[in-house]
Amino acid sequence: MNSTSINNNLKRSNTTDDGEPPPIKSPKVVERQKTGAGHWTQGLKQALQNQDNIIFETDHVSVIKDKYPKAKYHFLVIAKGDISSIKSLKYTHISLLQHMIHVGKNLRSYAKIEPKEHVKFKMGFHAVPSMTLMHMHVISTDFDSPHLKNKRHWNSFTSEFFRPAEIILKELEDKGFISIDGLYYKQMLESSLKCHMCDAKPRNIPRLKEHIRTHFPSS
Ligand code: AMP
Ligand code: ZN
Repeated sequence: MNSTSINNNLKRSNTTDDGEPPPIKSPKVVERQKTGAGHWTQGLKQALQNQDNIIFETDHVSVIKDKYPKAKYHFLVIAKGDISSIKSLKYTHISLLQHMIHVGKNLRSYAKIEPKEHVKFKMGFHAVPSMTLMHMHVISTDFDSPHLKNKRHWNSFTSEFFRPAEIILKELEDKGFISIDGLYYKQMLESSLKCHMCDAKPRNIPRLKEHIRTHFPSS
């Protein structure tokens, strides 16, 4: 392996969108773990190995709390089986997706979580996920979290990069597959900050956080 590919691996290894940078590892370790069980992209698989992390499950999905929540409530509905992402979905997965949506919509009762009545959730998939194992985000729209640290985090939940679950289901029903133009969606992550509730365009993350709190005075 030449130094350029070592650097690229290190760079890729440090570009997780999960809110917490992966620990810095030596190039050798990075190479060994690139696709292995210990690589950070496999974090959800590891999380599922600990039953204590699973707050609810059915024959088809497991629900866990996001380890680096980007809002007050942030859950992941993870499909069982070995589906790596929405890009692998076929007609045969329609009922699975319907089930994931059903679980997401009923998380309050199934998982016995009791956010206040007025808490609203959005449900969907990152167009270009960073973690393997197909997972649907169920996240409250306050986006009030210390783990939401940068523009990429914000845009990943509030721009088109966040593909609503119902739209993905419709696309699957219509076409039998999900098409993702990775470059198109990745550039969304670099868009300027914009409030998801009004037309405000705060200059930076601290100002954005200050601004969105005005939309959620009682939470
Ligand atoms: P994405 O792959 O972009 O759809 O998002 C992956 C999500 O997994 C992020 O919201 C992370 O905060 C979350 N995450 C990363 N590692 C873990 C883990 N070990 N357990 C639970 N959630 C995690
Ligand atoms: Zn606003």
